[in-house]
Amino acid sequence: ERKLLEIKGLKTYFYTDEGVVAAVDGVDISIREGETVGIVGESGSGKSVTSLTAMRLTPGKVVEGSITFNGKDILALSEEEMREIRGNQIAMIFQEPMTSLNPVFTIGDQIGEAVRIHRHYSKAQARARAVEMLKLVGIPRAEQIVNEYPHRLSGGMRQRVMIAMAMACDPKLLIADEPTTALDVTIQAQILDLMRELKATKGTAILFITHDLGVVAEMCDRVVVMYDGKVVEESDVITLFNQPHHPYTQGLMKSMPTLDSEEKRLYSIKGSVPAQGSLRIGCSFAPRCEHAMAICRDQSPPLEEIESRHFSRCWLHASGKGGDRG
Ligand code: SF4
Ligand code: MG
Repeated sequence: ERKLLEIKGLKTYFYTDEGVVAAVDGVDISIREGETVGIVGESGSGKSVTSLTAMRLTPGKVVEGSITFNGKDILALSEEEMREIRGNQIAMIFQEPMTSLNPVFTIGDQIGEAVRIHRHYSKAQARARAVEMLKLVGIPRAEQIVNEYPHRLSGGMRQRVMIAMAMACDPKLLIADEPTTALDVTIQAQILDLMRELKATKGTAILFITHDLGVVAEMCDRVVVMYDGKVVEESDVITLFNQPHHPYTQGLMKSMPTLDSEEKRLYSIKGSVPAQGSLRIGCSFAPRCEHAMAICRDQSPPLEEIESRHFSRCWLHASGKGGDRG
């Protein structure tokens, strides 16, 4: 089976005055063509740095690992070759459209920019493409909106513009980093519908980065759960929801709001994500884990396949060393 993006053993470190921050600490993630993979975790888990590293946009240093996109070694490309891929074969959308849209250019100019750069469209062709894209993402009065400036639009409409920009060159991979987090629930549902529709019609693979398991349930085929720079669990989405294995994933599930249960709404995982900065010994979830054992504080658990294509990084399920599991 063909992998579109394959990240292997990736370590992205930041060298700060306070010490080395292992933001991404040995991560494997792959996406097949047309697949939607979610990366879930709290802020500081390394999910955004992982995707920025795949685009070679992180200020951190890649100290180990490989990233292959469409057969190309991303880490070995020249900056020029990388620009050819960015915005063309891999596109990104972020949480805050206002910070990604330029306030002094029209919406049409901004959507058209990618096809002007990557496909050498004329101004008129680019404008036509912008109108076409605005219609595709469900923006009414596309012929007028194309001449407007971003501040004239609502948050939901701006996010549609961002998606139009990202999709203008028909990318093979769309990286969406918390694209609906800043939107209210109704608008969020509309944007997720739109993304599902685009995925179905265009066959775009999506790497969906979110802290929201509800969004994952709606959007993703497969899920990677990250904690403190590492993948702690990975499986298809149905298995993850039916049988979460890792205590951290179980905690995330319990803290999901549900319509029928006030009690679940009130649960939250005690403690907080450890401050990045130290290279720790043992399982980094141990300080928050109800199941922590002696071995957890001494040795870092390996990521193991506990069932077919279901991986967990926890001494509770490890085949090797977890001596005192019952
Ligand atoms: Fe908890 Fe130990 Fe598993 Fe870490 S390895 S999640 S501390 S049981
Ligand atoms: Mg983030």
